[in-house]
Amino acid sequence: MPAGESVKNESTRVPFNIPFLTGREAAYVHDALESREHAGNRSYARRCLDLLEKRYGLDNVFLTGSCTTAMEMGALLAGIEPGDEVILPSYTFSSTANAVLLRGAIPVFCEVDPATMNIDVERIEELITPRTRMLLPIDYAGIPCEIERIGRIARRHELIVMLDGAQSFHSRYRGQFVGRSADLTAFSFHETKNVSCGEGGALVVNRPEWTERAHCLQEKGTDRRRVLDGLQSKYSWVSLGSSFLLSDLQAAMLLAQLESAEEIVARRALVTAAYRSLFEDFEKAGFVRLPHPPDYTTVNHHAFFVIFDRPAHRRMFLDALAKRDVHPYIGYLPLHSSSMGARLGYTPEDLTATEDLAGRIVRLPLFTELAGQRLDYCLESMATVLKGIYEL
Ligand SMILES: *Cc1c(COP(=O)(O)O)cnc(C)c1O
Repeated sequence: MPAGESVKNESTRVPFNIPFLTGREAAYVHDALESREHAGNRSYARRCLDLLEKRYGLDNVFLTGSCTTAMEMGALLAGIEPGDEVILPSYTFSSTANAVLLRGAIPVFCEVDPATMNIDVERIEELITPRTRMLLPIDYAGIPCEIERIGRIARRHELIVMLDGAQSFHSRYRGQFVGRSADLTAFSFHETKNVSCGEGGALVVNRPEWTERAHCLQEKGTDRRRVLDGLQSKYSWVSLGSSFLLSDLQAAMLLAQLESAEEIVARRALVTAAYRSLFEDFEKAGFVRLPHPPDYTTVNHHAFFVIFDRPAHRRMFLDALAKRDVHPYIGYLPLHSSSMGARLGYTPEDLTATEDLAGRIVRLPLFTELAGQRLDYCLESMATVLKGIYEL
């Protein structure tokens, strides 16, 4: 279940997530409707791509129906084949692993680093075999993973890097926006993410020699792109492909949100600052751990997590807050210990660090409009609950 799906109601005192609206969405979507051009790669899609290039330095971007399909397109584009191995963290969403399995390849799960909950770079090389083809890290909570070190490992072993950047649109690594360092980066514009069009995503292709093929893959294996570009008058079937496209109605909503990304991140930053100051003393006392993004990263404040010292304390925290109608979330159930993980031959004991952390982590309610009285109530509730669990 995607985070936040259990609590939809605006009347909930503090739900996990409420999708943000900038106020411009309706006008843009209406305009897209009136344009009579509703398919993919029409005018609003072009405006989104233009913004991504100008503000984010991302060229060669393909808007897709989701981050899930962006990763499926990426795995196809990278030529992942049956029997290939792809290394990814177990602490991620099912889509990261499905993109690999759908190509007949094998997901190989890696442990995470508790400071960021991202792939533990120290543990990657021990998992590399002659069949390894790709490294597929994620940016948990919007904290960029160690993409430069991962890139160096990839070059040493001639591997492709695809980044699941579902949570990290607008985050920066050494001053550069996420999306420019990996061979392929997938973003999500799902309802639960910072910038949303309901269901949406993007694939950034940083290998110029793959661009032409990416266009064909996106357009059901045809060279329709060349017709749109005025290079030829008819298109035909030239390769494998699918419909990796975002309708212009959704692109219209997306454009409104992309234009406000800066404001969205700034508002969310206030919430994470409040959480940090609430939990700081508990961290100093050794009771909990907070996220520690490396100092050369700038986060987009997608999520804020707290790792409790014991699973029982997490349980107490969640139960007591639910009674106060405040709804944090437990985060991912590790993929290696899921029922699909078992079918792949994993047992929970195979990744003990991930298993342990997943049993103690909590993601706090965090959405763009969480401010004012609602935030005050949330913070007071958490302060009260924490006092019942720990003695400072
Ligand atoms: C949200 C998320 C996805 C899925 O994104 P969709 O756009 O819903 O397909 C994949 N990976 C991670 C890490 C996510 O957080």
